[in-house]
Amino acid sequence: MPAKNIKLPNERGYFGQFGGKFVPETLMPALAELEQAYREAQAEPEFQQEFLRLCRDYIGRPTPLYPAPRLSARSGGATILLKREDLAHTGAHKINNALGQGLLAKRMGKSRIIAETGAGQHGVAAATACAMLDLECIVYMGEEDIRRQSSNVFRMKLLGAEVRPVGSGSRTLKDAINEAIRDWVTNVEDTYYLLGSVVGPHPYPMIARDFQAIIGGETKEQVAATYHRLPDYLVACVGGGSNAIGLFHPFFDDKEVKFIGVEAAGQGLKTGHHSASLVTGRTGVLHGTRSQLLQDSDGQILETHSLAPGLDYPGVGPEHSYYQETGRASYVAVTDEQALEGFQLLCHTEGIIPALESAHAIYYAAQLAAGLTPEQLIVVNLSGRGDKDLDIVAKRIGVEL
Ligand SMILES: *Cc1c(COP(=O)(O)O)cnc(C)c1O
Repeated sequence: MPAKNIKLPNERGYFGQFGGKFVPETLMPALAELEQAYREAQAEPEFQQEFLRLCRDYIGRPTPLYPAPRLSARSGGATILLKREDLAHTGAHKINNALGQGLLAKRMGKSRIIAETGAGQHGVAAATACAMLDLECIVYMGEEDIRRQSSNVFRMKLLGAEVRPVGSGSRTLKDAINEAIRDWVTNVEDTYYLLGSVVGPHPYPMIARDFQAIIGGETKEQVAATYHRLPDYLVACVGGGSNAIGLFHPFFDDKEVKFIGVEAAGQGLKTGHHSASLVTGRTGVLHGTRSQLLQDSDGQILETHSLAPGLDYPGVGPEHSYYQETGRASYVAVTDEQALEGFQLLCHTEGIIPALESAHAIYYAAQLAAGLTPEQLIVVNLSGRGDKDLDIVAKRIGVEL
């Protein structure tokens, strides 16, 4: 559950100058209804207990905190601990948010769920939660992404979801979000929009954060149980920012714990082919929220690139922009090449095949560890497993499957 003392966002949905609700007027009542329903649910012990029960019985929580001895030794300094979100049901952290919001939709009496997906990971998580909770599920997905991620499209269909192709714009994630918002405007009465990360208009960044904060809450208890102290560093990859904020947030008031978010530098920051919204972006509005964005001088959203499908998004959650501006967290960027090195490093040292997104955090943590001592603790969020990325990796290292 979230940190106790942080009063963020404020009543208008702002984290400092970031956040807010930049949506068509017709959606304002829907956002207000959602916020009220969420606050009621949060205050209700039965709702919280049901979420925690399903986290345990269905997702398999708590996920382990694994001290990685060979990775630590190879890195030559600090002790690296891996928070094993890759062992959660469906193989990544996204199910925490999908399950929580699915329960919320049910409580609100909404039977029709819509979701957006890029590479298909959130679509699969949403379809999974909807199957289990007996909810209708429609997933918007860009035609380009459908072509690239056919096995996730098949997964969603097996789980009973309808996948609706989006042919506008670059036919990728940002266009799928636009289309999902359009659907919501039209069908707001019976429809719940299940957003996949800590982005979008208020209250979504707060809701997704609170459901993902189970990651950091468990981590705090697990580190305390073994080491009787707080960790020194928390490291996580940042796409929209949900796995990172989920790990960071419960430590917000523990100022001695340093937060590091790792973005995708893609082919290199100088090439323009990357997704580093915090490291290189400017403030603007996208998908209903004010945050750091990749945009040109006319405010047009730029094409993004990352080897990791889940990091390929031109914006970032507003709470991260706030953490960056206030210095609470620092943000760095790791290239495709370096992430691939992190990927292979974890395979070889620990027998764990990480998601390419998580491999960005692994690479950075290994570099960071080298300059520290074994008494120092670095927690890395292993946000997902790498099975979904085998084709990308094989192609990249020149192996024919
Ligand atoms: C989607 C995804 C991410 C990126 O999303 P965040 O909201 O930044 O967490 C990271 N890792 C994995 C495994 C993912 O599927």
